[in-house]
Amino acid sequence: MSFTMAIVGRPNVGKSTLFNRLVGKRLALVDDQPGVTRDLREGTARLGDLRFAVVDSAGLELEQGDSLKGRMRKLTERAVESADICLFLVDARAGITPADEIFADILRKRARHVILAANKAEGTAAEAGVMEAWALGLGEPVALSAEHGGGMDELYHRLRPLA
Ligand code: GDP
Ligand code: MG
Repeated sequence: MSFTMAIVGRPNVGKSTLFNRLVGKRLALVDDQPGVTRDLREGTARLGDLRFAVVDSAGLELEQGDSLKGRMRKLTERAVESADICLFLVDARAGITPADEIFADILRKRARHVILAANKAEGTAAEAGVMEAWALGLGEPVALSAEHGGGMDELYHRLRPLA
């Protein structure tokens, strides 16, 4: 396997949808409910001629007594530490949230390599959100539509030099 990529980001941005698209099996649960992914799930991604290990990081589970920030840190750090590349997903429709900014800070400090992607980017409703993602200071966002397959070629071109 050439490298390991962890898909990280706050709940409901489409991490599991992207994981499923890359792996080509419905290994990860996708749901409208935030936090449906309970564990780290690993699979073999295929993207053009690239084969790499991909990890669908645990979604945030909001449990009573949990510190939101603390829990996000723990889950994200675990995924980040074992990955060569972190694909940081934000939701282009929702725009950038304080949780995204927390993730961005963690990734800046800990990740070996970060690729920022603005998901749900299909259609004009997402254009402002894609632009907003620049403000995270992680470079140019890749506009993705995990559900419809948009932007996978651009993702390929970002990953190719790292393989
Ligand atoms: P996760 O919590 O980050 O793993 O997010 P999921 O993969 O479970 O997706 C959360 C919701 O976003 C589901 O309703 C998906 O169908 C939806 N979703 C995922 N990708 C896209 C996309 O590219 N466009 C749109 N419009 N919705 C998406
Ligand atoms: Mg998930």
